[in-house]
Amino acid sequence: MGKIEDIKYLEIKVKECIEIILQEYKEILPADHVRHLCDLLNNESNVLMGEVGINCFYSSSQEKIIFPLQYYAIIEELKKTDKRFSTEKNRRFVSDENKIVNDNNYFTFFEYAIVAGLMAREVFEMFTLHETMHLCGATGNDMLSEAFTELKTRELSLKYGIETACCNYSDEVKIAIELQKIFGKDLCDKLIFVPNDMKMDFLRTKCKEEYAELYQQINVELNCQMHEYQNRRYSVDGINGVKTLVLLYSNKNYDGIYRMIEEFKSKYLYDNGLS
Ligand SMILES: [Zn+2]
Repeated sequence: MGKIEDIKYLEIKVKECIEIILQEYKEILPADHVRHLCDLLNNESNVLMGEVGINCFYSSSQEKIIFPLQYYAIIEELKKTDKRFSTEKNRRFVSDENKIVNDNNYFTFFEYAIVAGLMAREVFEMFTLHETMHLCGATGNDMLSEAFTELKTRELSLKYGIETACCNYSDEVKIAIELQKIFGKDLCDKLIFVPNDMKMDFLRTKCKEEYAELYQQINVELNCQMHEYQNRRYSVDGINGVKTLVLLYSNKNYDGIYRMIEEFKSKYLYDNGLS
């Protein structure tokens, strides 16, 4: 099957994801945002493929999801070296039980993709929902935005039964879950669509100053710890690039962040009997 067929296939998958995002969030999104999502459903093209390193991403300047052509070569390379290829065709990467909280990363995902004999289009499909969330206005770039976008991706994947890799930002998702327990799910559903430079004001208005401060402090620490990973993300290539990213990803320590969350809870929640 050629790349043009794969793009056509992904265009359909992206539209299926937009339908689900509309269904899930249309009540909480402003009317003009809902209209924009309806326009995306009528768009002829929401997808491109290109020589863009090893990450799928949403390009806001092109308003399209970009899938890396390198995946074709990576899959061929891995097939040659992994003798187990295609022997566990029906094995799933994640089950409903570990879809939201797991320790997966790109490499464990690619290993699975080879063993399960996935074609390139099926590999791309696994990243489609997260990127369609961005296409539909869910924020990215900074780590906490990405963590919440991935958490919402995993929640939708579980709720609507969409195949999703669930291998992005696994450790940051765990932190987003802790914050969601504090902020509440309804607020976090809205928060992902608030532009990054307005998130603090949004939290100040909807909660209190200390909630906004907690969000910002954690975001600063996450971005600091993941600085090198994020910097190298778009400049590595091939299967070695995947390995490099996984190594960089493991090189962090979030103990301080969990301490911030515990301190916040004991100061503002337990005392008030709110937790
Ligand atoms: Zn993202």
